[in-house]
Amino acid sequence: MQVTHKTLLEVAVPTPLTRPFNYQCPLDIDLPVVGARVTVPFGARELTGMVTALVSEIDESINIDKLKPIIAVLDNEPLQPPSFHKLLTWASNYYHYSLGEIYNQSWPALLRKGELANLQTVMHWCITDIGKETPVDDLKRAKKQQQLLEHMQAHQHQFAQQLKYEGFSSATIKACVEKQYIEQRPLPQPTPCYWNESHINESDKLVLNPEQAIAVAAINNSPTYKTSLLLGVTGSGKTEVYLQAIEQVISRGHQALVMVPEIGLTPQTLQRFQSRFNVPIVFLHSGLNDKERLEGWLKAKMGLAAIVIGTRSAIFTPLLKPGMIIVDEEHDGSFKQQDTFRYNARDLAVVRANTENIPLVMGSATPSFETLHNAQLGKYQQLTLTKRAGNANQASHQLIDIKGLQLQSGMSPQLIELLRHHLNQGNQVMIFLNRRGYAPALLCHECGWLGKCQRCDANYTVHQRYQYVQCHHCGDQHAIPYQCPGCSSTQLATAGVGTEQLEQAINEIFPEFNSVRIDRDSTRRKGSLDDSLKGIANNDYQILIGTQMLAKGHHFPDVTLVAILDVDSALFSGDFRASEKLAQLYLQVSGRAGRASKPGQVVLQTHHPEHALLQLLNNKGYMAFSEVAMKERRVAQLPPYWHMALLRIESHDGDCITAFNQTIQTVCHPLLQQLGSKEYPLRQIGPMPSPMERRAGRYRWQVIFEASTRSRLHTFIDALQTELQRHKSAKKVRWSIDVDPIDMV
Ligand code: ADP
Ligand code: ZN
Ligand code: ZN
Repeated sequence: MQVTHKTLLEVAVPTPLTRPFNYQCPLDIDLPVVGARVTVPFGARELTGMVTALVSEIDESINIDKLKPIIAVLDNEPLQPPSFHKLLTWASNYYHYSLGEIYNQSWPALLRKGELANLQTVMHWCITDIGKETPVDDLKRAKKQQQLLEHMQAHQHQFAQQLKYEGFSSATIKACVEKQYIEQRPLPQPTPCYWNESHINESDKLVLNPEQAIAVAAINNSPTYKTSLLLGVTGSGKTEVYLQAIEQVISRGHQALVMVPEIGLTPQTLQRFQSRFNVPIVFLHSGLNDKERLEGWLKAKMGLAAIVIGTRSAIFTPLLKPGMIIVDEEHDGSFKQQDTFRYNARDLAVVRANTENIPLVMGSATPSFETLHNAQLGKYQQLTLTKRAGNANQASHQLIDIKGLQLQSGMSPQLIELLRHHLNQGNQVMIFLNRRGYAPALLCHECGWLGKCQRCDANYTVHQRYQYVQCHHCGDQHAIPYQCPGCSSTQLATAGVGTEQLEQAINEIFPEFNSVRIDRDSTRRKGSLDDSLKGIANNDYQILIGTQMLAKGHHFPDVTLVAILDVDSALFSGDFRASEKLAQLYLQVSGRAGRASKPGQVVLQTHHPEHALLQLLNNKGYMAFSEVAMKERRVAQLPPYWHMALLRIESHDGDCITAFNQTIQTVCHPLLQQLGSKEYPLRQIGPMPSPMERRAGRYRWQVIFEASTRSRLHTFIDALQTELQRHKSAKKVRWSIDVDPIDMV
């Protein structure tokens, strides 16, 4: 075959290797554009790759005849905006991860599988001329059909799903079709980005207080890149600031991307956006199927959605006319992906806003130290809301010393009295315990045997309702044993308290009140979280018990007492971020109290009321705490002052890890000598076993690398990766690089 210079393609292929691959474009296939997906052969497989360049200059060293031809071209225009190539290449360099893999992960599942990126024509139910003219009274004897006709006369056209949602059955719809009142038609596609200020619902707007007004003005003073940190206590009206900042975006016919934490994606959030803006909103949540996800993605890309609200991966949603990015609860751990491509969506948001030259707003009551540091350096503009909006008051805080006290399922007598006091006044109370299940351990009273997972360094959690023990790290699950496997005694007892047990105890202590539990177990059934939240709003429940799930984003205006049980382990954790996480959690949970006009009270039970961190948080608040804790980080040369990357190693075979650890030592020593200096120090800690040395049957080790400058760390990691890939021992274990690790477990 005659190969012309035009037919050589550079393709980013989803494989662990970071370099792109060259392919030929055979003469019978139209040459793809840069930014199109192509199907390529890779070994015995076919993969979906991204064309990153047309290679016009043939490198003499490439033997073209040996290059494989691509199989198909999937897009006839670039799939993502050109700015995405910059963003994803940045991510590939920063996270030391394959560009092909990153491209793949930035697409909805169906595009990864090679589906075409076309929006399917959506059929709508429309009212016919006959339907318009028929008086609804004609249908007096068919009530359902009458309702449907009335509904359609009012709305003209409706999504099929909407009709189902409104409760019209297929039979009713069919009857109306037979009478020719309604018919299915494809709706003409609207003009992209057609919205303007007339799509803002003015009557829904709140009058901003002075601090909010300053924040909105500062965010909106220019539509170009700038990161603002909106620092405001819970209930200070951050959401109202987001909404009014987005008004500008909508008025100009642009689009906004709103990033929210995993559990914070509540129907309440969506509802606030919907009632403010009469524009199409795409809501990317975990309940969507692949088709719905693709549809949302395409609508955003084509300018058919004005606002996109989603969790971590929504950062990769392309926008036709990007106008603003908002990251709510920027400190939240769920923005960091904890496997494969370990990106932090908050950090990518900064890069994306920069490449697209649009404003970025990060909001939090308890900003991460990284973000505070950037604000202190002047990289971010800091906007502060110090007061609770409306007429809500700040909650009062109190520590209960539980040393030596007899506890009832984890609760002290003082706490029970407090609960009773608030309940008797007709208020709701909330009890927070970050441990689901009945009890975190099962042990034998006779011989001390402890129920441990065979595959992890972890205890089994007892779930009493369904009578099983489960490992929360690998999911392994067994029936609760009747007898001790060690000594055959039947004296098995649980130790510690989980939410399931707490709920049981609460129901015994307060039979006259109703309780509801919100955690991952109680909300497994679709819609059950919604039902519980509605029940709380309705005051069907007076006692709310739950884990983190209960702490995020929800508004419970009648809760006046928030109790936090057992967070002591975080005070003495080996993880340098533990205290920051604890402080964030503490304030997040306490932010649930007294949001309306009723004053709130927060109590924390602890064995260490004298602990400096708790004292500081309790008496002076998060900012005072962060000042002290950040000083400690600076002295200890830890992030955000120093930069960190983690090399993770995993294998079923301990010997393979030992061999790889040897290789690491051999490789690292000369590299550290070469790249580190007095002025630019580089540090290696490990290899050492991970805090949880075994998980799901694998041994786990880690090496920490630290440097005072980012660039030095990245140069080092690049060199390290290249060197390690050469060694045989590296092929026998799983290893990966985690830049800016959050979870060191
Ligand atoms: P945050 O997002 O900071 O937790 P929200 O935006 O949810 O706070 O606001 C908390 C409550 O205060 C909401 O009920 C909201 O309607 C109300 N609120 C916000 N801004 C104002 C304002 N300017 N005037 C009156 N009420 C407000
Ligand atoms: Zn025993
Ligand atoms: Zn396990």
